[in-house]
Amino acid sequence: MADSTLEGRTALITGSTSGIGLGMAQALAAAGANIILNGLGDGDEIEALRAEIADQYGVEVIYDGANMLEATEITTMVGSAVERFGAVDILVNNAGIQYVSAIDEFPADRWQAIININLVSNFHTIKAALPAMKKQNWGRIINLASAHGLVASPYKSAYVAAKHGVVGLTKTVALEIAEQQITCNAICPGYVRTPLVEGQISDQMKAHNMSREQVINDIFLVAQPSKRFVEVEELGQVAVFLCSPGASSINGISLPVEGGWIAK
Ligand code: NAD
Repeated sequence: MADSTLEGRTALITGSTSGIGLGMAQALAAAGANIILNGLGDGDEIEALRAEIADQYGVEVIYDGANMLEATEITTMVGSAVERFGAVDILVNNAGIQYVSAIDEFPADRWQAIININLVSNFHTIKAALPAMKKQNWGRIINLASAHGLVASPYKSAYVAAKHGVVGLTKTVALEIAEQQITCNAICPGYVRTPLVEGQISDQMKAHNMSREQVINDIFLVAQPSKRFVEVEELGQVAVFLCSPGASSINGISLPVEGGWIAK
């Protein structure tokens, strides 16, 4: 059963059929929020996830398959949620993709897709969700940026540009809603072991003819002083905290959750 911290609230989490977004959905449901799942994937598997979260936490869970590349689908998803629940009280902009390549070889269509899914979709969801938040004078916007929203790594030009953009967008929205009981913050995770990172591990194993262990230790965790992946559950707890009364004055921050990466 859910606890009651967020009872009566509704959370929309983009890209919540997998990885961090799914962990956020589970954590917010565990705190009592109704959930709108979004993301790509197999219909039967998504339905099973939806039913499991609803059963486990006793909250309402619905799924909307809006494509984060399509502005009209995003606007329609948020509009339907507002119609059904009165507002999207908690908006988590999480959907994201990655592609790794030297900039002079970076396919232009991959570059544009990363910018559109990881950054531009956040503009469309926020624009659509804010009027109902303002009307009720309460809202929480949480944007999944990344350690790569604060520092760069080579070969990730589109991702680093998009995530730095998310940090800037977060600050701007925070200033625009600062006088209301709405906050907009970013979470900046280090490496989290999700399908997005698993794909990069496999690519690096092939590119460098290295073992999985070597890639994990010498390429990924070398950036992270904790020498371990951040856990999805840790990020879920951070999101619940940002929605709690104790976080009411936290606005416009980009919070590193990365085992000390940014401290270096
Ligand atoms: P993931 O691949 O496990 O999940 C990504 C989610 O986004 C999936 O639900 C997928 O279906 C959805 N998605 C992708 N394209 C979409 C589209 N066009 N429309 C709708 N949904 C779409 O990845 P993850 O690691 O959980 O990443 C989630 C977020 O966290 C991303 O924004 C990512 O950049 C960020 N992040 C991840 C890490 C990490 O190490 N995994 C670190 C820092 C930040």
